[in-house]
Amino acid sequence: MDIFCKIIKGEIPSYTLYEDETVIVFLDVNPDVNGHTLIVHKKHILDIYDMDKETWLHILKIAKQIDKLLREKLHSEGLTLVQNNGLLQEVKHFHLHLKPQYKNKQELMNVEDVYNQIMH
Ligand SMILES: [Zn+2]
Repeated sequence: MDIFCKIIKGEIPSYTLYEDETVIVFLDVNPDVNGHTLIVHKKHILDIYDMDKETWLHILKIAKQIDKLLREKLHSEGLTLVQNNGLLQEVKHFHLHLKPQYKNKQELMNVEDVYNQIMH
């Protein structure tokens, strides 16, 4: 079983920011930037070829909501979306990376501290 299925099953803890019937959203524990977040489909879907249009639209809607949250709590001022299919996809379970962008270069913070800053 891949690591995301284990997180969905609750076998591995995660810094969860949002959850609904379709997706779970949590902080990447190996972030490129502070607030690096993953939107993960709750079903074991491989990639975009495995996903219907409605689900994609839902995921984009959630991405915008999370971006708002990150801008408000972490003062990011932009967002980069990355989603790998095939070769570069490390975990073979659909996930969309949200990488907030900052005007000034930031030191990487402890993920738990980032989580606390977002949730308070
Ligand atoms: Zn999976």
